[in-house]
Amino acid sequence: MSKFIPYGRQSISEEDIQAVAEVLRGDFITTGPKVDEFEKAVADYAGSEFGISVTSGTAALHTAMFAAGIGPGDEVIVPPITFAATANSVLYMGGAAVFADVCEDTLLIDPDEIRKKITSKTKAVAVVDFAGQPCDYDEIRKVTDEYGLILIADSCHSLGAEYKGGKCGSIADITLFSFHPVKHITTGEGGMAVTDKAEFADRMKRFRNHGINVDYKQREKMGSWYYEMTDLGYNYRMTDFQCALGLSQLKKLDGWVERRQQIAKRYDQAFADVEGVEPLSQLTDRTNAYHLYVVKITQKDRAEVFASLRDNGIGVNVHYIPVHLHPYYRDRFGYGPGLCPVAERAYEQIISLPMFPGLTDGEVGKVIGFLLSFV
Ligand SMILES: *Cc1c(COP(=O)(O)O)cnc(C)c1O
Repeated sequence: MSKFIPYGRQSISEEDIQAVAEVLRGDFITTGPKVDEFEKAVADYAGSEFGISVTSGTAALHTAMFAAGIGPGDEVIVPPITFAATANSVLYMGGAAVFADVCEDTLLIDPDEIRKKITSKTKAVAVVDFAGQPCDYDEIRKVTDEYGLILIADSCHSLGAEYKGGKCGSIADITLFSFHPVKHITTGEGGMAVTDKAEFADRMKRFRNHGINVDYKQREKMGSWYYEMTDLGYNYRMTDFQCALGLSQLKKLDGWVERRQQIAKRYDQAFADVEGVEPLSQLTDRTNAYHLYVVKITQKDRAEVFASLRDNGIGVNVHYIPVHLHPYYRDRFGYGPGLCPVAERAYEQIISLPMFPGLTDGEVGKVIGFLLSFV
């Protein structure tokens, strides 16, 4: 039997391994120079002033919610088609996640639905650049400006994508990235928040270090043992060897995004005139970093197509079960079907096809061939 093709996977080179090994042989394996270097490099890449590295994309979301001052009684508007962590991070801070439905053709949060969900308790909007395509930021910004809300971008899918010429990371008040192995670059586990606002950056640096107001490097400079814990923070610090891996990976990011776009183009062409396979719409004023390639199966049973592809060694997946339909959200908040009908309808039809830079042209052809044979 031929090799199983996963839906996503990391690319690690000898160079990456060398970069990690070098750090392991050195003096600093955590909170050293590679951390600063990686933060600066990602912030620069994303067109932002400050980068705050943390242990995962989820930790980055949590840290952003802290920076935004989310607490009990506050509401944060989120989309239902996302990884649960986007909404969970609001709950970590004691806030409530309010779901605003998505647009049918892109599965990006619908700015009009955001507007409908605003109440006197709304404090922030956390949007998701689903599959790698940036959200409708101009429209969303109009709403957040009008109501004085903080705009948080969960850009865990869109590192390297651009909206009207601006990089993801330069648009929202705080933007989050993940470095999980299926994402655009990896550090094993890891994440980063980027922002232009010094106040948010300071709060996030404190939060990822137990809520302590100076880090040990500043203390050393001050020649002092004294520090204050001013907030209840966490240990969300990244190690130097992870950051060395991230720096080494970052060099290849543009090439990898290009390869993802090439693969997407082949999928697009293959499905252009096929009834029953509908790729998500690509809007012309923005680029797509294609963390995922999602199609809707409109004339066959999705579960059957999914099972047939899996049986033939094609690692398809479904992104995502609408978050409000998870038992935790149903039981705790009384959410259920009907809350976000567009998302719920789309969920019945979506499949994510293999998409990662190491995918060969032959493998892409095989995925296309099998999918066409089952629809
Ligand atoms: C991957 C992902 C996360 C979480 O990232 P981790 O690094 O796995 O914690 C959050 N939101 C979205 C949209 C993601 O895709």
